[in-house]
Amino acid sequence: MKLSPISNPPEPTNLLIRLHNQVGAAVDVTGTTAYLGSRWHCHGCGDRSDMPALDSLSFTRRKANEHATDCRASYHRLG
Ligand SMILES: [Zn+2]
Repeated sequence: MKLSPISNPPEPTNLLIRLHNQVGAAVDVTGTTAYLGSRWHCHGCGDRSDMPALDSLSFTRRKANEHATDCRASYHRLG
């Protein structure tokens, strides 16, 4: 696998789970384990949780994992 230039970006202090998409870009689940305390963000394509919603970890984990399975972007320069 060709590793993405952002396969290992700096870890946020509130990082809960790091997944990797199909080309190795990090998909981070951040926040807390509290009810409605977490969100996800893909370093490959810039996609993220619907803002400003925070979701429960079980929901966020499932959505992040589904995104990592589908996403093939390795880098984005979106603002
Ligand atoms: Zn993505």
